[in-house]
Amino acid sequence: MITTGLFEQDVPFVKRLDLDKCPAGKISRFWVRIVSSGMGQPILVPVLVAKGHSPGPVLGITAAIHGNELNGVPVVQKVFQFIDIKTLSGTLVGIPVVNVPGFLMNQRFFNDGNDLNRLMPGTPNGNMSQVYAHRILDRLIKPCHYLLDVHTASFGRVNSYYIRADMNNPITARMAELQNAEIIVNNAGGDGTLRSAASALGIHSITVEAGDPHKFQRGMIRSAITGALNVMRHLDMIHDPIVPPEEPAIRCGRSYWMYTDYGGVLEVFPRITDRVEKGEKIAIVRNMFGDIKRTYYAPESGIVVGRSVNPINQTGSRIIHLGIEE
Ligand SMILES: [Zn+2]
Repeated sequence: MITTGLFEQDVPFVKRLDLDKCPAGKISRFWVRIVSSGMGQPILVPVLVAKGHSPGPVLGITAAIHGNELNGVPVVQKVFQFIDIKTLSGTLVGIPVVNVPGFLMNQRFFNDGNDLNRLMPGTPNGNMSQVYAHRILDRLIKPCHYLLDVHTASFGRVNSYYIRADMNNPITARMAELQNAEIIVNNAGGDGTLRSAASALGIHSITVEAGDPHKFQRGMIRSAITGALNVMRHLDMIHDPIVPPEEPAIRCGRSYWMYTDYGGVLEVFPRITDRVEKGEKIAIVRNMFGDIKRTYYAPESGIVVGRSVNPINQTGSRIIHLGIEE
């Protein structure tokens, strides 16, 4: 372990997370060296570890694996500020920014244009983003027993506060319910995501979708903090009562995006969490002269989980994310 005075508060550099070396009853901070830049300088991922005096599970909270999905950053920071380290059981691991190059570039993707959350578990001998993905999983995520991966919508889109989880698994189903989300979408994974790769390692994982990209939204942040603390309460890591939801979550057995098949200016009518009826008009596309060229209708009744807010619509752009209620 190397300590340097050049970095804030003498946060040590390490190569991987070693929970055995973290002192109990203390919150530790690390810069974990994952890869090096073309200057040979380390690309460092910030990590917090709160290790309780009493034994218990290891819960990980990750944010900004898509570098412009920022609501999760204060979620991680504030959960660490909330907990009382003296009475904590088990260990909390927080990674406020997973995709450091993307975060610095204000973008979703890694700096080679790849989506880290589509190429998990990565590979030890692949290209830059594959190696980065592999080492994130291997060096930081592996010690966890449970994982909350916090996301938001992508550029040009907005999301409800919703959860993607395997609802056929009772453990991840319970983790999803504890988030007090507006919507829970059943989704088994298997798609190159951090959630899927962590699940394949036996880590109980869910995806928390908290709002919109490129901003801090207080309500979303507060909700996701409550969700994370609720999981800690459920796991008996902290010892106050679980906060129940104000409204029960709307459960969707499946969901999918609708896409345009014609380019032009897109206007989407329903709002987030609106219910749409089968056959209801949901969007139009106009050409640049103002004529309506396409009208889109809901193929079945459902709830709007997410939607486009970007009028500039190339053929094949997303319209709405439609959840089909159970
Ligand atoms: Zn994301």
